[in-house]
Formats: sequence, structure tokens, C-alpha cells
Amino acid sequence: ALADPTDAEAVLFLDPASRSSGGSGDRKLTYLELAGCASAIASRLVGGRVAVWATPTIETCAAVVGALAAGVAVVPINPKVGERELEHILADSAPAQVLAAPGVALPGGLAALPRLDVDLSVRAEGLPAEPDEEAPAFIVYTSGTTGPPKGVVMPRRAIASNLDALAAAWQWTQADVVTHGLPIFHVHGLVVGVLGPLRRGGAVHHMGKFSSAAAAAELSGPATMMFGVPTMYHRLAADVEADPELAKAIAQARLLVSGSAALPATCHARISKATGQQIVERYGMTETLMNCSVRAWGERRPGTVGTPVDGVSLRLVDDAGDVVEVSDDATIGEIEVRGPNLFLEYLNRPDATAEAMHDGWFRTGDMATRASDGYIRIVGRRATDIIKSGGFKIGAGEIENALLEHPGVAEVAVAGRPDDDLGERIVAWVVAADPAPAAEELIDHVARLLTPHKRPRVVHFVDSLPRNELGKVTKRALP
Ligand code: ATP
Ligand code: MG
Repeated sequence: ALADPTDAEAVLFLDPASRSSGGSGDRKLTYLELAGCASAIASRLVGGRVAVWATPTIETCAAVVGALAAGVAVVPINPKVGERELEHILADSAPAQVLAAPGVALPGGLAALPRLDVDLSVRAEGLPAEPDEEAPAFIVYTSGTTGPPKGVVMPRRAIASNLDALAAAWQWTQADVVTHGLPIFHVHGLVVGVLGPLRRGGAVHHMGKFSSAAAAAELSGPATMMFGVPTMYHRLAADVEADPELAKAIAQARLLVSGSAALPATCHARISKATGQQIVERYGMTETLMNCSVRAWGERRPGTVGTPVDGVSLRLVDDAGDVVEVSDDATIGEIEVRGPNLFLEYLNRPDATAEAMHDGWFRTGDMATRASDGYIRIVGRRATDIIKSGGFKIGAGEIENALLEHPGVAEVAVAGRPDDDLGERIVAWVVAADPAPAAEELIDHVARLLTPHKRPRVVHFVDSLPRNELGKVTKRALP
């Protein structure tokens, strides 16, 4: 998209603080300006890998585009990273330099690296030649939801092909302006949410920080699409129910897309009722970018992530490693994928890379069912969400969705815990709504709605659930 830079707007960062004063703190770059910044940055990189201090700012976008132009692999660093994790990432990825906005203090080992300030007033002409498409573009560390973060080595080919597949799925063109408030150190916010609009030649309007008000102002104004995670849509659902004006603004979107974790069917229904917008859900991961999505023109079936996007092959595999042939929306198998969207390897982890592959297919660790029309329904992760109780194999997601249908449940996480009789018993951690329900009432609700063997045996009421920056529940942190 930067090959022929023009005066068209590329990236705009809204300043949440100046919203009431007409957005005087907003900062933007045209394609021409972004190319100028990128080539200035590219000319100062020494090669190898470069760490990018990935605050949600326009400097981070320029830094990433500059490094990509130079063919230097980017290691995006979460600005909230803890000491131990930062040490691990730096030792593992060994960046030669660090890019950061001027004046920002860097912690620990990052401060010891040769630093380049991203000064947007410094511009140069002429971008270097495009690197080879198999060259690593990013080392992105996984969310660490299930274990220590792994460095995913992602080639340029995966990004290019996946962004084009998403463009086809979402009828995404140069005319689209994407808005979101996602962090930009993961593939959702950075690859899909920043590089996506740039590849299309359209614009991205980053909210700086997500708010329903900013989303409404954008979607009733320049923005056509919004990307978010379920926790954002959860807040949006409450806000559009409370404020009809807000609902009217959101109703003007062309497409609302959710991903990174399962969107509860109740949240889908609440937003649809208040705004008429049916959220499009997609399923992806760091190692594969986006695997599946509901199409812009397709049926938006709550609780499903649609079908594989162009170029991605998907199969379900049972415990014995055999391919599940039935498509009955009931038989659970692990999702395996293959295609140009795949990563190259886990950095310095040949063991983990080999373990993740099965006859040339990538084992996602996610469990799902498939309907006769190919729609995939994710039921949870193999490691934490499949509960083997009383001889049954039960997906935590189904129970979570059922509990969320009870008006007394605001948030919930379900997991299995060892049990002498059952093998595992189903345990629910519930953040109660007002008025708070009794545990027995919730247990009966699940028994009635699903089947008795799927009822939680224990309900713990908690003030909040442990979540990471993308709002995903970190189940291994549950007691
Ligand atoms: P780690 O691999 O370190 O444990 P992580 O898997 O959470 O962390 P990511 O690569 O950021 O790291 O997240 C990918 C995972 O998010 C998927 O494997 C899947 O479990 C979940 N996910 C993404 N989109 C959806 C969705 N639409 N519905 C359900 N789950 C989803
Ligand atoms: Mg993972």
C-alpha cells in the first residue's frame, strides 16, 4: 500500500482527552508522510531484529512500517510488560535496537539497547526494495493464556495473504475507514487493525483507548468498520441499551467485527436488539493469523465463527488423531489448519514447533464442532476448556454461554477440577449481576437449559475474573 504514497489519510490517532474540544489533540499521517517517516527509520536500522515499544500511538505505527520496509523483524513489546516477561522476551529474541517515541522512559534491558527515537518530523525519500516474502516480519509473543509466551516467527507472506483473504471476506476496500481501540502489540490490533487498513489503502482511526462514545462518534462519522474484543462489545452492549442516541450512531456501521476470544451469544443478541447490527465473528491466533470468519454477506449465526477464509484449509481431528468427517454441529474435534497464513516456527523452540505440527497441519489447540454448511463453533481450548466429567466430554464455552443467559450473571468462567467420583467436576466462577442469584438457582438453570450432567457442581462468586490485556480470561490464574 505504501508503494505509491499519496496525500490520502493513512493513520489517525484520536486523543481521548481532547474529544470534547473537537479533537484538537488528534494526530495523523498521510500515506506520503508515513512513507517519509518509514524510510527515515528504515535507513537507521542495523538489521537483525528490532524491539518496538508498542504504546497505542502513531509513533508505533511509523516504527513498524519503517522496520517492515527495511526487512528488519519487529518484536512488539507490550508497554505493560512485567520485568520477568521482558527479560524472557529480550533474551529469546535478542533485538539489536529498540524503537520508541521520544522522551519515553524504557524499563530494564530495553534501556540498555541502542535506542532510536521515532521522530515524526524526520522524513526521508525512497523506500528500500521489498524484502523476500518468506523473510520474518514479526516475532510476536503469544498472549500467554495457557503457558509462558512463545515467540511466533511470522513471514511477510502470511500477513499479505491473510489480509487479502480478510478483504475478500469483509468486502474491505480502500473506501473503508477502520476504527478500534485495541492494543497494538498483538496480531489483532497491529496486523489486522493497522496493517490491514494500510494494505487496502484506506485509513485506520485508533481511539487511543476504547470507549463506546468514541466508537459512536467514529461510526456515525468517518469510520465504516470497527474491530473489537468481546469485553469491549460487552461494554458497548450495556451502553447502547442505556442510550438510544448511542445505539443510533452504532447502527450506522457497515461492519462490526469481534475476535480474540468467544463472543457470548447473549452479547451478540443484546447489541443486535439495540442497534440492528449483527456482529461478525472471526477466529484467529498469533501462529495462523485469521483462520475463519463469517462473511460480510453471510448469515451471522451467534456463537459461530463462520467458515475458513480464502486459502485456509481446516479439519477437525479426534483424540486418536483421526480426521472427523461428520459435520453435525455436535461432534467435537481439535481444529487443525494449513495454508499461506501459517507462521514459520516458534523462535528457539524446535520442540514446541514440532509438537504443534501434525502431518503438515498446525494443531491449534482449539476444540470445535462443524455444521453441515461448514460453520465452525468453537467450544474451547483443549488444555483448559474440555472437561471430562462422569464419562462425558463437555466444552466449558457451552456452559458459560448458558450461565450468561441467566440475568443474575454478569461474567463467568467455567473449568474442570479433579473429582474422585466424576474424574473432573464442573466449577463456575461467577461475577454476579444485581440482584445476585443463589448458587442453586444457577445450577438448576444449566441443568434445565442444557442437560443435568452439564450443571456446575460448585459455583464461586467472585468480584472479577483474571483477564489479560485483550480481555481474555486467564483460566490458569483461577484458584
Ligand atoms: P497462548 O498461546 O500463549 O496460551 P493465546 O492462545 O491466548 O495465548 P493468542 O494467539 O493471542 O494467544 O490467541 C489465540 C487464541 O484465542 C485462539 O487459539 C483461541 O483459543 C482464542 N480465540 C481467538 N478468536 C476466538 C473466537 N472468535 N472465539 C473463541 N476463541 C477465540
Ligand atoms: Mg495460543
